[in-house]
Amino acid sequence: MSKILDGKLLSKQIKDELKFQVDILIKSGKKVPHLAAIIVGNDGASLTYVSSKVKSCKKIGYNSSLIKLDEKISEQKLINEINKLNQNSDVDGFIVQLPLPKHINEEKILNQIKPSKDVDGFHPSNFGKMALGLETFIPATPYGIMEIFSRYKISLEGKIVVVLGRSNIVGKPISILMSNKGNPGNATVILTHSKTNNLVNLTKQADVIISALGIPNFLKSEMIKKNCIVIDVGITRVKNPLKPKGYEIVGDVDFDNVIKKSSYITPVPGGVGPMTIAMLLKNTMHAYIRKTS
Ligand code: NAP
Repeated sequence: MSKILDGKLLSKQIKDELKFQVDILIKSGKKVPHLAAIIVGNDGASLTYVSSKVKSCKKIGYNSSLIKLDEKISEQKLINEINKLNQNSDVDGFIVQLPLPKHINEEKILNQIKPSKDVDGFHPSNFGKMALGLETFIPATPYGIMEIFSRYKISLEGKIVVVLGRSNIVGKPISILMSNKGNPGNATVILTHSKTNNLVNLTKQADVIISALGIPNFLKSEMIKKNCIVIDVGITRVKNPLKPKGYEIVGDVDFDNVIKKSSYITPVPGGVGPMTIAMLLKNTMHAYIRKTS
């Protein structure tokens, strides 16, 4: 049995399911879902992420719009752009690609997005609903991780999960989702961060480790117990002149060694990354259905 949790394969299945739903809409003469994305500035990694989201929309038959804004745009002008999308009845959901330039207050911007179109699930009201276990948009990366457990039928019940990193987009929400009642869920979760003491004592107890740090090869095989399930969220561009682009994408996990000791593991690339895009598309379908039903 393979130890690899194949996010690339699962994400293809999810996109095929969504395409099937879109084909039915088209056959019955209905509008298709429309996802819009705002990007501010020219950061290479952000442009790559956002264009792969747009490309995926096209592949499954969604409409998509990409709004590219100058790096020096004022906060107010960005808010005006958000309000245009809030009011545009053709747009079912939209995202503001993060990070934003330093002069813009990220929290203020995310608060401007209409919660019913907030397919990233970052608005406080959607985040609050998620914490309460109510129907909402679940942030795409943690949603993708939960979907991996669900589709591979790996139960989390009673398991000790150690989450590395407490960001609002990955660490915090995944710790809430895994500890919520339900399946997958019902886990006992330890959320760790840079101020955590004796981290290795905690990781060695974990049945499941979710690593969302952004520190290449941080998690070594000595830090885990045998048969641990390891989910690597980290994506770091590391210079490598031997690669065609001059860099390679590296995860938080020392994959070649950790795989020997773990029961299941996600690779980088091809693990959590593609699932994030698939779940964003799924959230857009949720937004479309909620609006039209
Ligand atoms: P982030 O905002 O970059 O924060 C990193 C977290 O790691 C912080 O909570 C920090 O603690 C913690 N940390 C740093 N050093 C640590 C240490 N030695 N021990 C324990 N914790 C430590 O987090 P993020 O936005 O979630 O991003 C994390 C990584 O995931 C990045 O590589 C990012 O590119 C990647 N990512 C991937 C996807 C995907 O689709 N695969 C999606 C989102 C993010 P403090 O809070 O104390 O500073």
